[in-house]
Amino acid sequence: MALIVQKFGGTSVGNTDKIKAVAQRVLSCHKQGNQMVVVLSAMSGETDRLIGLARAVQQMPDLREMDMLVSTGEQVTVSLFAMAVKEAGSDAVSLLGDQVTIQTTNMHTKARIKSIDSGRIKRHLDDGKIVVIAGFQGVTEEGDITTLGRGGSDTTAVALAAALKADACEIFTDVEGVFTTDPNICARARKIDRISYDEMLELASLGAKVLDIRSVGLAKRYKVPVHVRSTFTENEGTWVVEEDKNMESMLVSGVTYNKNEARITISKVPDQPGVAAKIFLPISDAGIVVDMIIQNTRAGSMTDLTFTVIRSDYDRAMKLLEQVAAEINAESVSGAQDIAKVSIVGVGMRNHSGIASTMFQILAREGINIMMISTSEIKVSCIIEEKYTELAIRALHEAFALDKENVPAEEQV
Ligand code: ADP
Ligand code: ASP
Ligand code: MG
Repeated sequence: MALIVQKFGGTSVGNTDKIKAVAQRVLSCHKQGNQMVVVLSAMSGETDRLIGLARAVQQMPDLREMDMLVSTGEQVTVSLFAMAVKEAGSDAVSLLGDQVTIQTTNMHTKARIKSIDSGRIKRHLDDGKIVVIAGFQGVTEEGDITTLGRGGSDTTAVALAAALKADACEIFTDVEGVFTTDPNICARARKIDRISYDEMLELASLGAKVLDIRSVGLAKRYKVPVHVRSTFTENEGTWVVEEDKNMESMLVSGVTYNKNEARITISKVPDQPGVAAKIFLPISDAGIVVDMIIQNTRAGSMTDLTFTVIRSDYDRAMKLLEQVAAEINAESVSGAQDIAKVSIVGVGMRNHSGIASTMFQILAREGINIMMISTSEIKVSCIIEEKYTELAIRALHEAFALDKENVPAEEQV
C-alpha cells in the first residue's frame, strides 16, 4: 500500500462540478489500495477576490487580518471536497492548518513552515479516510492563522509528503507539466519530461509559477520526487528529481517572466559608506524581499539606487523609503509597477559566453528597451515594460530553438 499526496490547484477545483470530478479521480486512486492525502487550493480567482475585499476596506491591509481573510478560500474547497467523497460513498475528513498542526513562523502573508504534526493525519489514514488538507495555511505558536505566500499550496503538499514520507507527491494543475516556457503564452512551448531540482529552482525563482519555489527547495532538501501533471488528462507530466546524466543538457533550457515585481529608484543618494545599509535595513525588517539592485556611479558625491520588490509590497516599500530618503538627504523616490522581468535559464550557460549578448540583440530586434539587467552563472534577466512581455517570451523561445529537443550548444547561440 502506497501513501500518495496529491495537490490540486485553483482551476482544478474552480467550481462544484470540478470538485466532484477531482474527488472521483482521487477515489479511483484510493480504490486501488493507496492511502490518499489531498491538498487543495482555493477556487480559482477566490484569493484575488478576497485580497480585493481587504483593499476596499483598508488601504494597506493589516497582515494578520489579511491571513484570517485569505485562508478562508481553502476552507471552502476542502470541506466541499470531503462532502463530494462522502456523497460518492467513501469517507473523508477535511483539516485546516491548525487542525493538522502545520506550525509556521509568524511572518504574516509569507510565513514559513517550521514543523508538521503527522499524528492526526496518520490516524485518519489508518481508519481508511481520505485526508483533505487546506493548502497555503498554517498556525503560529500563539495560535494565529498564517499563510505561506501566493502559490503556497504547492509548498504545503511537498512539506506534507516529506513529513509523511509519502511514496509520491503529485501536483495537479491546468497544464500538462513543466514547459520550456509558459504554454499559455507561447504555443511552441515544449513539455520537459524530467528536470533537476536545481534547474526547477531557477525556473521557479524567475517566475515559472507552475511550482512555487519553496516547494522545490523542500523537495530537493527532503528528496521528494515531484510529479507535475494535468488534472484534465491522464498523461504523464514532468518529474522533478535529482540530476542525472540522462537529462537534457541544453545551453538555455527555459524562458520565464515575472509580472509580479515593481521598480523603485532613489535618486541622488549621498555616495557614502553605510547608506545602502540605511536604505535596506528597514525594508528587510518589514519582511520585504528585494530582488535586483543596481547602483550607478555618478560624478560627484551622489548616486542613484534602483531595485525591484514584489508588487504587493510596493506601497509599503515606497512609504518606508520616503522616510529613509528624508533621513539620508536623498533627492527623491520614484517607481513603476508596469514592469516585467524576462529571463533565460540554463545550467549549460555556465561554460558559455555570448548568451547574454544574444538575448540583448533579440530584444533590440523587437524594439524592446531594457531597463535593468542582472546575470548569474546560469541565468540572464532583463527588466522591460510589462506590455512587451509576451513578445519578448516568444522571440526568445524561438531564437534559442527551445521548441526542439537537445539542440547542440552552437546552434543555440
Ligand atoms: P495552480 O492553480 O494549479 O497552482 P498555477 O496558475 O499556479 O496553477 O500554475 C500553473 C500555470 O503556470 C500555468 O497555467 C501556466 O500559465 C504557468 N506557467 C508559467 N511558466 C510555466 C512553465 N514553464 N511551464 C508550465 N506552466 C507555466
Ligand atoms: N490560494 C492561494 C493562491 O491563490 C494558494 C495557492 O493556490 O497555492 O495563491
Ligand atoms: Mg500554483
